[in-house]
Amino acid sequence: MFSKINSCAVFGIDGKVISVEADVNDGLPMFTMVGFLSSSVKEAGERVRTALKNSGYHMPPKRITINLSPADIRKEGSGFDLPVAMAVLLAIGILPEIDMEKTLVIGELGLDGEVKPITGVLPMVYHCMKMGMTSCIVPKENEREAALVPGMKVYGVSSLQEAAEFIQGIIQVLPCNHESIINIGSKEDYNLDFSEVKGQTSLKRGMEIAAAGFHNVLMTGAAGAGKSMLAKRLPTIMPKLTFEECIDITKIYSISGLLDNNNALIMKRPFRSPHHTISNHALVGGGANPRPGEISLAHNGVLFLDELPEFNKNVLEVMRQPIEDRCITISRVNASYIFPSDFMLVAAMNKCPCGNYPNLKKCKCTPYEIRRYQGKISGPLLDRIDITMEVMPIEFGSLFQNESCESSEDIRARVETARIIQQYRYKDEGINFNSQLDGKKLKKYIKLGIKEEALLMDAFKKDELSARGVYRVLRLARTIADLDESKDVKSSHIMEAVFYKNNGKFYNEEV
Ligand SMILES: [Zn+2]
Repeated sequence: MFSKINSCAVFGIDGKVISVEADVNDGLPMFTMVGFLSSSVKEAGERVRTALKNSGYHMPPKRITINLSPADIRKEGSGFDLPVAMAVLLAIGILPEIDMEKTLVIGELGLDGEVKPITGVLPMVYHCMKMGMTSCIVPKENEREAALVPGMKVYGVSSLQEAAEFIQGIIQVLPCNHESIINIGSKEDYNLDFSEVKGQTSLKRGMEIAAAGFHNVLMTGAAGAGKSMLAKRLPTIMPKLTFEECIDITKIYSISGLLDNNNALIMKRPFRSPHHTISNHALVGGGANPRPGEISLAHNGVLFLDELPEFNKNVLEVMRQPIEDRCITISRVNASYIFPSDFMLVAAMNKCPCGNYPNLKKCKCTPYEIRRYQGKISGPLLDRIDITMEVMPIEFGSLFQNESCESSEDIRARVETARIIQQYRYKDEGINFNSQLDGKKLKKYIKLGIKEEALLMDAFKKDELSARGVYRVLRLARTIADLDESKDVKSSHIMEAVFYKNNGKFYNEEV
């Protein structure tokens, strides 16, 4: 007899339907699996046979062949165990011949028949929903994640026997409810707030501008001045995530195995801060069966690189393209994998190797050492950073002052307004933010008055701005005007933009 069960595999962050076919024939008792399988999938045969036996199902002494198709895709992972076992049970007549055409089955099996959780459930179920399937049988521990997909009946099972008896109609399995998952998940708790940062008014304002226009930021300054304290709070003033954005982020965490069943939907903007010893693979993604790297885990959120000059130079180089494209393509012999990577880069660095410059009482570095240290950051990477800010150590007095500082919620309200203005303005341009304006679009969307142009010309001469520097000032000025809800870019906006373009300027900067 022949049987077929739908399963799924993940490539990049998208699913692909894989058909699991079983054929039972007279002949020498054998159990073979074919269909371009990686070694982890080949091992499934042994697991499935043992799990079937330990679940009380006896295999007839026949020749059983399993085929996973399409044949041109290399199959990875352990999620095919359950569908293979179900296909066998169907082919040997233990399961009734019911219509499984619109049902997805995924899950790993333990030798005792237990169904174990797997990674990538959300992208798989999401893809199968798009392909017209209406129900899925998944590991119990993954059911909440699967139920994030609207329009899918999700049945979570804990054992092979439970799955089989459910299909046989012996027991009932209640579907996991989509609405309840979405409602439980609708909390957004950062445990951090901008009101906790005392003083530092101009830095907080810089962060607000960055969040409003999605501008990349570089903070320079002595160690311990509060650079990471500010960076960590940036997600709290960025606009609330939409449901689609939450799903996109959750898919990436699902593939990476970073979801837990209680926290099925990620509602917070990610904040990732990899250590400077990170490898290329871990940063941008990679491996034989490519996995997302930190730049994708930071998608829709913040990637914080502390002590930027300490990062390996070529690690920083590999980030340039993804910053530009907002996604990363990883090519392998069999396929190309695309992972989204639309993050805001926030970098921080000391001004000298010892970290104390410009405090000359403490810093003993030579000018040559300082220059060399700052020169480690490549010009092309700096080109992608619109805001540079110098962080001064907080004054002793303001540590204890009781002034009430603005909360993240208040700042976010302005940021959200500025975002809406940008989205409306660029609705036909295929971009969302001022930071994405190139030379041509800048000319189209920013018309300066005579006074403003003179001011920019003045800054151009006085601060020795390059053409690129002028573009950066204009992009920032546009965001500042949007925060001001002003249609035109005015002198005050340009002056503030010049400040944030040049604040924290350092030696090797190409101006
Ligand atoms: Zn120093």
